[in-house]
Parts: sequence; structure tokens; C-alpha cells
Amino acid sequence: MIPGPNDELVFLPLGGSNEIGMNFNLYGYGPPDDRKWIVVDLGVTFGDLTTPGVEIILPDPTFIEAYAEDILGIVLTHAHEDHIGAVGWLWDRLRAPLYATPFTAFLVREKLREADLLSQVKIHEVPLGGTVQIGPFGIDLITITHSIPEPNGLAIRTPLGTVLHTGDWKIDPDPLLGGPTDVAAIRRLGDEGVLAMVCDSTNVFVDGFAGSEADVRKALFELIGGLKGRVAVGCFASNVARMDSVIRAAQANGRRVCLLGRSMHRMAAAARSVGLFGDIEPFVADTEAGSLPPDRVLYLCTGSQGEPRAALARIAEGTHPHVRLGQGDSCVFSSRVIPGNEIPIRNLQNKLADRGVRLYTERDHPGIHVSGHPCRGELAQMYQWARPRIAVPTHGERRHILEHLAFARDLQVPEGVAPRNGDMIRLAPGRAEIIDEAPAGRLFVDGNVLTPENDRPLRERRHVASNGALMVTVVLDGKGRLAASPQVRALGLPGDADYPLAEALDDLAEDAREAVEALKGGARDDDSAVQSAVARSLKRAAQRVWERRPAVETMVVRV
Ligand SMILES: [Zn+2]
Ligand SMILES: [Zn+2]
Repeated sequence: MIPGPNDELVFLPLGGSNEIGMNFNLYGYGPPDDRKWIVVDLGVTFGDLTTPGVEIILPDPTFIEAYAEDILGIVLTHAHEDHIGAVGWLWDRLRAPLYATPFTAFLVREKLREADLLSQVKIHEVPLGGTVQIGPFGIDLITITHSIPEPNGLAIRTPLGTVLHTGDWKIDPDPLLGGPTDVAAIRRLGDEGVLAMVCDSTNVFVDGFAGSEADVRKALFELIGGLKGRVAVGCFASNVARMDSVIRAAQANGRRVCLLGRSMHRMAAAARSVGLFGDIEPFVADTEAGSLPPDRVLYLCTGSQGEPRAALARIAEGTHPHVRLGQGDSCVFSSRVIPGNEIPIRNLQNKLADRGVRLYTERDHPGIHVSGHPCRGELAQMYQWARPRIAVPTHGERRHILEHLAFARDLQVPEGVAPRNGDMIRLAPGRAEIIDEAPAGRLFVDGNVLTPENDRPLRERRHVASNGALMVTVVLDGKGRLAASPQVRALGLPGDADYPLAEALDDLAEDAREAVEALKGGARDDDSAVQSAVARSLKRAAQRVWERRPAVETMVVRV
């Protein structure tokens, strides 16, 4: 294919650049007024203490939704939530066919089924190492290694050059499940010429290599072989190779394996769907595991990040219906602490320790976990194989992306761009540069409603969480006179022996009464005038009583 005179190749991340999570990348090809697009990955990120009640956060697709008929396909590199988690939420707004390898497709189908979309979505299942042509984009899947089955890099060929979109990767010489990184394919691509490499930045601050799942298997065999009593192991369910190692270590020591947590069961089913786990002994149900002798059972659990409703949290709380751990039992954390989860993990571990459970973590047993992302040694290796003209670091916070860009310069990569979500980068023709800015933002999944980031309800919830709330009822008669004393109720506000809460609320009711009575006759006919007068007066009063500013909600009832 010969490029047209005005054709451009652009890269536009709408998620995943300047953050680790919520990957949502776009490639556009064609003249500026008639681009065809492909989407690479459609993931979520997770809420934290600053987003009370919001657990799932999505990239805002508004910009590209306007060009939905020009989206030719959505290509998914691998099945981690930060790459596929938003498919069920956002597919309806993009409506393009999906491309994924079988393991990823299995999990995506489940998401679409839950979203009631399965019958509408065309899923092209692509074999590992396969090739697909999507409009002007010819895409080769390149097998890489990561921390989940079937991770793929993408060679995206266009008439203006080839982009190597690495996806999440590391160089694991022995990944246990699946093949090693297809170095030959990457070298061949390098020989043909790589215009740009869009690459994982997660571990750019870590020297050396991430390490192999095979070494973790050895360490887990050794550790689990020496344990007495009940053993629980926490790890990411999506790391099926890790699950496999734990299961085999248990079997080698005469322990039956009991899976605890929904995602453990889901991932086991996904693994079986692609022919994994064929030769392992059947799992034992949690209802039966308790009657096995303690050193004949191993629990493989969700919740290694301290997630409040996951299996490990319930065991630590003593609220799991079937599983108890105590003195003489062990809990192995075959996982790292994801930044932001330090406090819940510490709380979880303290509770387990308090039950007498012995803890084994990556900190004191460094061999029991390895990262799935490339460290500097691996990045250097990849740049050497692919030899791109342009480095485009993604999958990192700002500091990761800038450090990665500097590292690429040190490695003699001629050009580089450090994207922020919304930056439209022209990769060809000419020098790579940011040519436009697209609106990029986040959507919060608040209950069952999608809301803009930090919209009013969440701001109110944060305010109430730290300041409490007052509810006032004002009853007025037909002439605008108070028909009863105002009623004040408090949420989340304290009282003490010197000034009990009931007394404080009576005083506040008095303040409300004065505020209404101070209004001129006409203003009392206007609900909003009454509400704001009462709110003003109660905020002042609350300052006096509690030295804080609770939310004030005034109901005006007319009889
Ligand atoms: Zn990943
Ligand atoms: Zn990722």
C-alpha cells in the first residue's frame, strides 16, 4: 500500500500514559480529516481512599466516540484488568469488533455476558503469533512473556511505517506456561525497520532483570515443603503460572488445594479453556477442606492486596464461613505490594499475625515473587533488538515515562516523545511531535451510574465523610409561618457529657427558627430562600459547636 499525500500515522493514548492502569491507546491512519482508528486495550483502574465508594474507574471515551464508525477494531494485548476491564462498560460507545487470543477472549466473553452485550459483539479469536489485517493496519501478534497467559506485543504495520506496541512484558527465559519471548520475530522486525516503539515503563527505575517464574517455583517448593499446619497462599489469580507452581508445590507435599475467591475459580476456568491445568489433582471444596488434617491442605486465596471482601480478609477477620487459620498455620504472600495498597495490606497482615499465623512475604523471602514488567536490563535488550527510530514510553506515571525517555536517549534512540493522556502524537511523516490535544479524562463507576471524575456526588460524599451532615426540617403553613419547631438531625457528629448531642441539636433547631423568622414575609414563600437562610445559620452554629462545617440539608414542608 502506498501512503496518500496527506496521510499521517498518529498515536493517541486516552489512558495509561502518566498512570499505571486504565490503558486505552489509539492509533489513527489517514488524512487528518478522515482518519481510520484502531484501539489497543480498554482497561480500568481502581479507586482508593480519595474516591470513597468508587472502586472502578474508566477512561473517558468521549473524544473517540464521535468517530465511532471510523474505529475498525479493538485489539486486546492480554487479559489484565488494566487492559480489558473496561470492555463491558465502554464497548457500547465504540461498537467495533474485538481481536484477542483465546485466553483473553474467554475472559472478555465473560465480561460481555455480564454486561448483556455478548450477542452484539463480534470477537475475532486470533491464534498466538497470528496476523490480522484491519483496514490500513496489518497487525502481527508477537509472543512475549509477562505475568498472565498469552501476553502479546503487536507489530502494527502501516504504509508509513511499523510500530512495535510492546504491551506489558518482561524477558522470562522460562515462563512455565506458554512460550518464551519471540526474540527472532522482534529482531526480524528490527531488521525491517521499526518506526516507533510504544513501550512499558513500569520498572524503569529497577536495574537488572525481573526474574523468572521458574525460580519462583523453586522457591515456593522449598518454602511450602518446610511448612507444617494449614497453609494459605495469596497471589494474583491472573498469574496462572504462579497458581500452577503453588498447586504443584502443594501436591508434592501431599496437600490438597482449595481455591478461595471468585477470581481464583474464574482464572482456573479460563486456564482450563486453553488446555492448562490438565494434569493436576481435582481441587477440594472449601466446605470439605476444613475436615482435612491441617498439613494436608493448602488454600490458594485472593486478597493479597488487602481487598476488604476477598478471601484473605475474611480469614483474617474470622468471618470466612468455612476456613479458620490460627496458631501453627502459615500465610505466604506470593505477590508484591502495589503502591497505594500499603495500609490495607499491613492491616491484613497484622490481623493474621494476631491469630498466630506465621507470615511469609517477598520482603523476607525475596524469591517468592517476581515482577511481570521489564527492568532496565530488559528494556536495553528490547531497544537493541527492535532498534526503533522513535521511543514512546507509556504504562507509567510521569516519573516513569520521563525516566524511560531519558534511558532511551542514552541508548541512542534518535527521537522520543513522553505522552500524557490526550496527546495526539504524529509518528509519521516527519519528526515525531505532539500535534493536537484530545480531551481525556476518567469516568467513575459510582454504584451503577457512570459519573464524570470528581463530580458533585463524590465531592459531597468526601465532604460528609470528614465533616458530617445536618438534616433540618422546616414546616411552614399557608401564610409562611412556622407550623412546628424545626427538627434537626445529625449524621456523623459527636456530643459529650458536657454538651450532649441532643442538646446541641435543640440549640441548632432554635437557630433555624430564628433564621426563618428573620426572613421577610415574601422570602418565606420561596423554598430556596428559606433553605439558604437556614443553611447559613446552621453552618455558623456548627462552627460554634464543633468547629467544623458539616453539610446542611434543609427540607421545607408546606402545610
Ligand atoms: Zn499486564
Ligand atoms: Zn498493564
